[in-house]
Amino acid sequence: MQSLESELETARALKVDTLADAIESIGFECTRCGACCTGEAEDDHTATVFPDEVRELQESTERDWRDVARPMPYGLADGEDGPEGETFEWALQTDSCGDCAFYEEDDDGVGACVAHDDRPLICRTYPFSVALDGTSQPMGAVVDSVALGAQREAGETGETGDEEGVVRAHECEGLGRDISRSDAEDLAAALKERAVRELEEAIGVRDAYEPTAVASGEVVVHDSEGAKRPDGTPVDD
Ligand code: SF4
Repeated sequence: MQSLESELETARALKVDTLADAIESIGFECTRCGACCTGEAEDDHTATVFPDEVRELQESTERDWRDVARPMPYGLADGEDGPEGETFEWALQTDSCGDCAFYEEDDDGVGACVAHDDRPLICRTYPFSVALDGTSQPMGAVVDSVALGAQREAGETGETGDEEGVVRAHECEGLGRDISRSDAEDLAAALKERAVRELEEAIGVRDAYEPTAVASGEVVVHDSEGAKRPDGTPVDD
């Protein structure tokens, strides 16, 4: 496994044109089905959001931190009064149905994102991901992929392509539809930005981490800015 720094170098060397080629060959058009914004039967909607994205959403929607983000549940224990323990990411907040808190349906049941212009990178790039060790995969099984071997050979790392240089497509009914070159390039640019940001955040979390005493019933989120309470305030305040 490569170091996070090495993966970051690889991500920064990704070529938007090659990513756009992969997206074009898979094909995609959003059908506005809302599946990537809603929870499933047993599982609440779970999508990673960076700390600065939380603040941007707070500002644009005038919501409190807790109404934008929640501690990523993975790794938390089931305490008597709910989840407890330490976690290392924020997830978009969910509503009582388990859907994203920014997903709203009109009277005809047609859903839309009320934060569309400020939606996080993971939403802007769904259903695609770049497979690198430090990058996350959106929910849903991988259903298609395109290797980027030629790109990695041409990249700055000097490494040849392998299974890590892959654009993956996850379950989505919009896959396989024609996409214009300019839309593919926009999506590719966001996909590269997301891969870089995820690795920068992972490095930041690793470097900022300090063991923190977590009382029973409490949750602490370690992000790239340090340890925080679920309302986004620093633990040491
Ligand atoms: S922020 Fe918007 S696009 Fe992203 S999951 Fe929520 S409703 Fe969907």
